[in-house]
Amino acid sequence: MTTREGCERLDAADPLRPLRHQFALADADARGVIYLDGNSLGALPARTPARLAEVVKVEWGQGLVGSWNAAEWITLARRVGDKIARLVGAGPGEMIVADSTSINLFKALSAAIALVRRDAPARARILSEHTNFPSDLYVADTLARASGMELVTVDHDGLGASLDEHVAVLMLTEVNYRTGRLHDMKALTHAAHAAGVMTVWDLSHSAGALPVDLNGAAADFAVGCGYKFLNGGPGAPAFIWASGAMLARLDREEWRSPLSGWLGHADPFAFSPTYRPASGVDRFVCGTPPILSLAALECGVDVLLEANALGGIATIREKSIGLAELFIDLVQQRCAGHELSLVTPREPSHRGSQVCLSHPAAAYPIVQALIARGVVGDFRAPDVLRFGLTPLYTRFVDVWDAVDRLKQVLESGEWRAPKYAVQTLVT
Ligand SMILES: *Cc1c(COP(=O)(O)O)cnc(C)c1O
Repeated sequence: MTTREGCERLDAADPLRPLRHQFALADADARGVIYLDGNSLGALPARTPARLAEVVKVEWGQGLVGSWNAAEWITLARRVGDKIARLVGAGPGEMIVADSTSINLFKALSAAIALVRRDAPARARILSEHTNFPSDLYVADTLARASGMELVTVDHDGLGASLDEHVAVLMLTEVNYRTGRLHDMKALTHAAHAAGVMTVWDLSHSAGALPVDLNGAAADFAVGCGYKFLNGGPGAPAFIWASGAMLARLDREEWRSPLSGWLGHADPFAFSPTYRPASGVDRFVCGTPPILSLAALECGVDVLLEANALGGIATIREKSIGLAELFIDLVQQRCAGHELSLVTPREPSHRGSQVCLSHPAAAYPIVQALIARGVVGDFRAPDVLRFGLTPLYTRFVDVWDAVDRLKQVLESGEWRAPKYAVQTLVT
């Protein structure tokens, strides 16, 4: 039987232990808060406030407009893109940070559709999963309608059989936001290519959380989120990637982004009245990048890159699996008889870095009662209690304490208090 002392020993032996100090968690610790929602909004890196103050006071306050050149603001989106690329198996010059994930998905899907339909105009489907993140489905549906195509969704296990001559693009999120289930990117990309289908991957719940090998999987396009496991802060800009082969094809075909703004122009400061796309990944840029948010994102990504000296993403994955196994075992040992079921796959290689439970009637109030006891997870409609595990700062004792408080919430029935049924705007 696992004990809290056993968890303390696991923490003492954890190679990533020094990284917890890279996060501003002193206030949470002082209040007894256990943060298990880094997959919704990553915690604040300790270095971010000083860096932002420097960007504001020195680069903006003193440098003024000259900082576009002198402080290298104009190349920041590429610099951060190159850093994120190292975390997901992409090459330098293949990724850029811009806009939100939803907007980048629109651009990546548009590019993929254009390339496929040039040679195969009859391919008129975007294929995805019913349970994909709604924003991804909305964007794909709107784009499909505007392009005379249709969005077709199937369930996880039906994807392979649906890859046929009608499909142009397979659009998937590698780790499902609500179940934590992980797709086999390499196998699905291979199956898609064999059927003449291009792939667009959303890495929102993968980047910074588990090993991703975009080029190793021969993926075509990818996008992902900056404020989850990359710890870039609320509303951090997102990233967009295309393989070297796709970037070369977009160049050859002079593909224009559907959001063809001036900073995606080949020569923005020529102020030409006619649009000519920049070459390479820069063609995905539309307007001016949010420098403050980009600077904050760089801080979050730098912390992840520091983990390289401690074993890198493989060690992060190993700890993530250890944390999740502990969480699942403890829930099974200590919270039996309370109608909780495991939603996340039991097999570690089939899941991302979260544990999701379901409760038939009371998932929302149980999550609220847990938050009142300092365990911050979140509720995902209709019945899921979601707990994100961020190996950079989540400790094994945090998992112990979180499950201990979950047991108290369930046994006391305190979640039945009417205040926990009140719905907030953000869940
Ligand atoms: C978090 C997330 C997003 C977020 O999109 P925004 O445009 O940044 O709000 C998109 N897709 C997936 C799969 C996500 O998990």
